[in-house]
Amino acid sequence: MKKISVRLLLVSFVLLLLSAVNPYGTPASEAKKQMLNVSFIDVGQGSATLIQYKGKNVLIDTGEETEYNKLKSFLDEKKVKSISNMIITHNDSDHMGGADLVIRDYKVKKVTRAKYQEKKKNKQITEFDNAIKDNKIKTKKVKAGSKIKIAAGAQMTVYSPSKKSDESNKNSIVIRLLHGDNSFLFTGDIDANIENSLVEKYNLESDVLQVAHHGSGYSSAMLFLSKVKAKYSVISVGEGNSYGHPADFVVKRLGNFSDYIYRTDRNGTVTFASDGNVLNVTAKETYNDDVNVQKVPGTPADNNIGRNIIGNVNSKVYHSEDCGNLPYEKNRKYFNSGEAAESEGYRAHSACVRR
Ligand SMILES: [Zn+2]
Ligand SMILES: [Zn+2]
Repeated sequence: MKKISVRLLLVSFVLLLLSAVNPYGTPASEAKKQMLNVSFIDVGQGSATLIQYKGKNVLIDTGEETEYNKLKSFLDEKKVKSISNMIITHNDSDHMGGADLVIRDYKVKKVTRAKYQEKKKNKQITEFDNAIKDNKIKTKKVKAGSKIKIAAGAQMTVYSPSKKSDESNKNSIVIRLLHGDNSFLFTGDIDANIENSLVEKYNLESDVLQVAHHGSGYSSAMLFLSKVKAKYSVISVGEGNSYGHPADFVVKRLGNFSDYIYRTDRNGTVTFASDGNVLNVTAKETYNDDVNVQKVPGTPADNNIGRNIIGNVNSKVYHSEDCGNLPYEKNRKYFNSGEAAESEGYRAHSACVRR
């Protein structure tokens, strides 16, 4: 009896020591032993991300059904046979169109979907539902506060959705993945309102941000980006996107916070390898214009938020982004500084531009 309690004491003392070394409760040595890879797969217009860790494959979204060959050739190249968890962020075809085909071609052990889903049903959602039923796949519904297990040393926490919406994008699952000191934030297609409400509630600081909604102008709010402080931003987007994704001003805005911006339409599949401490990136590097793999000088600390300047092309007056008197989107011109605006003949709106 006495012997056992002494041993227990010893074990808990060692555990205490280990957790003191690493704030995340994962012994650093263990996290280091096992590499974790996150690949933002080039699936044209859409999103599909593969996480590989300790022999487990977790797939977040599948891209469009029509682009399935791109996903399949990547999975086959990585010798993926089974998928331990297929997480579908929301029910839009550019995220789940290929889900039934993944179930057909691979051993999918579990499917994770959002707890809150809009009512809409279409052919692709029905095909997916049927594939789950026919193959008797375990399905888990998650919402803010849920945890998703991969394997010891890598944890996933769900931060959204927290309530039901009729818009599929707003029901997107938002996940933060932690591996030792490295963190990844996956945002589905959430909009700026949800982004801001999340950073008001939670600390979502992350090394890698999958930019929400393919770089849409209705997402990537200033407040959100300034809180996430991602060193790397990744935009999953296809060439010549019909919605104009990513918005140019979003790419510029990301540059205020991120040192590197990757886009799957230009950089191809982007892979991050984490050893729990250092992050290594592999991507096709292209330098043919301003928004490719790009080093943006400065750090968030010396890029104050008022720096995003919005000019009115008609009145030639420029505003800071938080002004209550901004021009309509179609009349806007974005600048990185007041000086840049002035050099093009714009003058400051005295009510909002701080000097
Ligand atoms: Zn989408
Ligand atoms: Zn969507």
